[in-house]
Amino acid sequence: MAEQFDAIVVGTGPSGNAAALVLAQGGMKVLVLERGEAPGTKNVQGGIFYVDPLEKLIPNCRKQAPFERPIIEQRMWVMDETAYVGGTYRGALGEGELPSRYTVFRANFDKWFAKKVQDAGALLICETTVTGLLRQDGRVVGVRTDREGGDIYADVVVLAEGANALVSERAGLRPPVSAKDSALAVKELHFLPRDVIESRFNIGPNEGVVMEMFGTITKGMLGTAFLYTNRESISVGIGCITSDFKDNGTTPYALLDQLKAHPAIAPLLTGSEVKEYAAHLLPEGGYDSVPPLYGDGWVLCGDAAGLVNSLHREGSNLALTSGRLAGEAILAARDKGQGYAAEALKGYKTALDESYVMKDLKKYRRMAGIFHGNPQFLSTYPGLLTKAADEILKVDGVDKKTKENKVMKSFVAGRSLWGLVTDAFKLVRAVR
Ligand code: FAD
Repeated sequence: MAEQFDAIVVGTGPSGNAAALVLAQGGMKVLVLERGEAPGTKNVQGGIFYVDPLEKLIPNCRKQAPFERPIIEQRMWVMDETAYVGGTYRGALGEGELPSRYTVFRANFDKWFAKKVQDAGALLICETTVTGLLRQDGRVVGVRTDREGGDIYADVVVLAEGANALVSERAGLRPPVSAKDSALAVKELHFLPRDVIESRFNIGPNEGVVMEMFGTITKGMLGTAFLYTNRESISVGIGCITSDFKDNGTTPYALLDQLKAHPAIAPLLTGSEVKEYAAHLLPEGGYDSVPPLYGDGWVLCGDAAGLVNSLHREGSNLALTSGRLAGEAILAARDKGQGYAAEALKGYKTALDESYVMKDLKKYRRMAGIFHGNPQFLSTYPGLLTKAADEILKVDGVDKKTKENKVMKSFVAGRSLWGLVTDAFKLVRAVR
């Protein structure tokens, strides 16, 4: 007779591990299936890890998790081909205050998190790809795997399979992610001695810097770049909307090469040895592309459900929170003893709607459309801003009023007065 579990979780990313941990701690017989040879081997993140949602599941996690550097400084750069204008936040932790975000390697982190899940009693099987869902009278009752005789049954299935959600798509639980609603990102890992990183970024042994960049570096396409300090390496990457690459005829590798050659970036990477290269999809459709999140015998979490806040570069935290809330809703359904039909699982969606996850996605629901429909934000303005800074800061005998007029004229020439006014309005609409 085929084996029966209370719950099967597909995937060991933050969403799958969080759901599995809650379910196992709640006394369920849980099976976690992962296609990679170990948790994390298939996963890519910039990556900044936001601790708060993990702390809710694993108190004192900062002392145990394999994080890289706590982030003390965040830089935001608007770049053109040769210059940038930037803003920086650098903060010190107060007495007794703990860091809220760290750089991370997902290969290490996911493995650590999955061990916690196993310690709580769940069974983890790697190198096993879920190829489909099993149904009975329309209800999901288990999964089909690529293993010989690999049908496994469960009362409820948690789909936490990430951005490339083939199982959910094939089962008709969600539409395929379109090229316009996804971003393709590439990332390289540049190794440097620890002390070189610390002196180059003006940080101590247990401090990290992250940089987010946008502007003409994405060649008019909607996207951003990043550079993060790890203990002995620097993660550098860039990503744009997938359909933009096709329309633009540019490859992600070409963009990354240009970014690394930028006069403000090249010195940060000088002398480094590149040891890893990765590419991955991100769901970027936002609030309006979130598919149904639950049904008869199943729930959908994390990237598979499109839960990414691209403006703030948050994904792993939304994934982790959604996995936790899904797990809690399943336990609540079990406690009511009425099975796992859609009606019994609707508490998951209610809890997600009431959390920062859906509130934030809703707040920025217009953003992608506005930026996509107005390429001037990423093509015209970066150059205008860097030239304005150059003009104002240059001391050349010209009085400041004349300089301000020159800058104003350059903006009007670049966008027209009406264009400037409507762009300001659009910008406010995008983020409100
Ligand atoms: P994933 O982490 O993708 O995990 C899915 C898991 O399911 C994988 O282990 C996969 O192998 C497994 N799987 C898939 N299909 C199957 C199957 N059929 N059978 C068995 N197993 C399967 N987020 C941040 O918070 N901060 C950042 O700085 C950040 N930077 C990013 C940079 C890049 C370049 C990218 C691509 C993403 C970044 N993100 C970042 C987003 C973040 O990585 C995701 O939001 C997060 O990993 C989603 O977690 P998840 O559990 O939903 O899916």
